[in-house]
Amino acid sequence: MLRSLFRAAAGSARLERLVESTPGSKEMVKRFVAGGDAEGALRTVRGLTDDGLAVSLDHLGPESATPERARAVRDEYVALLSRLRDAGLTPAAEVSVKLSALGQLIDEKTAYEHARAICSAAAEAGTTVTLAAEEHTTTDATLETLVELRREFPSTGAVLQAYLRRTEGDCRELATAGSRVRLCKGAYAEPESVAFQSSLDVDKSYVRCLNILMAGEGYPMVATHDPRLIAIAEDRARWFDRGPGEFEFQLLYGVRPEEQARLAAGGHTVRVYLPYGRQWYGYLMHRLAERPANVALFARAVSSR
Ligand code: FAD
Repeated sequence: MLRSLFRAAAGSARLERLVESTPGSKEMVKRFVAGGDAEGALRTVRGLTDDGLAVSLDHLGPESATPERARAVRDEYVALLSRLRDAGLTPAAEVSVKLSALGQLIDEKTAYEHARAICSAAAEAGTTVTLAAEEHTTTDATLETLVELRREFPSTGAVLQAYLRRTEGDCRELATAGSRVRLCKGAYAEPESVAFQSSLDVDKSYVRCLNILMAGEGYPMVATHDPRLIAIAEDRARWFDRGPGEFEFQLLYGVRPEEQARLAAGGHTVRVYLPYGRQWYGYLMHRLAERPANVALFARAVSSR
């Protein structure tokens, strides 16, 4: 119920204006978002890498509704990658990219060209790109783009969502040598026809997918904060004899930082997903939807002003 409320709020422009003008919301944003621009993001990346963590940067924003906006997003990533390289922050920092922000919904071919430009900038900077997973209606197009990009840039990563019924099959397809796959539960409201609805079914699917990825030849990226799934991933890594550097954990910036430190201290590669940019509202609403405790935190931050 709360989850659907915040998901609905994520799409409300009126609420967005209200939340953005509430001074206390800035405190909450700081917890989950690196800063309004690349400058602030770079500072946060430096702090995280100094602590032994890897990073995947995401430039926040909704889908691009115009070709101009899509080009601006491409340019932002290309400039960011060159700054990361100049600051000596690659390969520890890579980028995560949403094809919808590159205009996938206007013209798939142009979105591919923009993604290609970003992959090329990443290759020059000595790092990688991971394509985010969005609504299920875009999954086929995104995975097709991935196949195209991987011909030229084999290290381009995919994201698979355990809540989708199709994902076990996609894991089998992608558990091959050189393939980087981020496995997450999935963040969108999807219909029963394509997605498991109960958290138990999603968790069971996550474990089946994890087994396939860990048993396969690719590089699994275990993206979850769920203590049970993290423990299962550690167990599977031992079972399949995957040492440090043969898989990684990924967690969102600001979520369970003590767990991020614990995993890194245990010798695991831990990558923090680090969003930055001015359009933080939708992202923040999704984080609130995921965890009622964050709502209380948000309420306190707002009311303390
Ligand atoms: P949840 O079921 O949300 O949480 C499980 C348990 O984790 C909770 O019960 C609690 O014990 C713990 N927990 C969760 N949040 C907190 C918190 N704030 N503080 C303390 N404990 C907490 N989704 C997409 O659809 N597409 C993507 O491309 C995508 N990329 C992602 C990349 C990364 C690196 C990560 C980590 C997530 C990504 N997601 C993406 C989001 C993902 O699908 C989930 O919505 C999100 O990660 C929450 O799921 P969870 O696995 O943490 O489990």
